[in-house]
Amino acid sequence: MNTPSHLILNLALLRRPVAPAMTWPILIGALIPDAALFIFYGWARAQGLPEQTIWGEAYYSDFWQAMFAVGNSMPLGLLGVALGYAFRRVWAGPWIGFVGASMVLHHLSDLPLHHDDAHQHFWPLSSFRLISPVSYYDSDHFGLLGATVELVLVLAATAYLLPRLNSVLSKGLLGAMALVTIAGYFALQIRPLV
Ligand SMILES: [Zn+2]
Repeated sequence: MNTPSHLILNLALLRRPVAPAMTWPILIGALIPDAALFIFYGWARAQGLPEQTIWGEAYYSDFWQAMFAVGNSMPLGLLGVALGYAFRRVWAGPWIGFVGASMVLHHLSDLPLHHDDAHQHFWPLSSFRLISPVSYYDSDHFGLLGATVELVLVLAATAYLLPRLNSVLSKGLLGAMALVTIAGYFALQIRPLV
């Protein structure tokens, strides 16, 4: 899934209806699995690599695959949940717990939607990758189906969240992210069909 989709979905599913809503730990946990990807892309652009080399070669290098495995580790996310529970009476406990839970939710929503770019979700216990037949973007692997499922989930989560957010700023940011998802869907999935 795309990063903004994870932010919206995780917020809709994990945000608590009463204070503390845990908005920040949820957003941070939703971002962690993709963080290495942003660093990788910044590094690759700084090296002057062409897009094709970035996503076709550098992305699959042993070093970067190892980096991606850390944030995509379900055992690490579950460790966060366990630590959060163990230290739930300390102020940082619930924070760590929600960061971990949001990481795991990100991993679970990536599992059925990644084909040849599948992550090592069981690192460091195993380097197994679940190669799903459906990709969230790749037209060679039911990308239209994957992208449509992602879009529907994002729209439902946005409709649920919008009336529940307090500030105009957060409503605006949520709306903007949903619009980016819709625009991306039409640009990458619908335009090539017509
Ligand atoms: Zn991801």
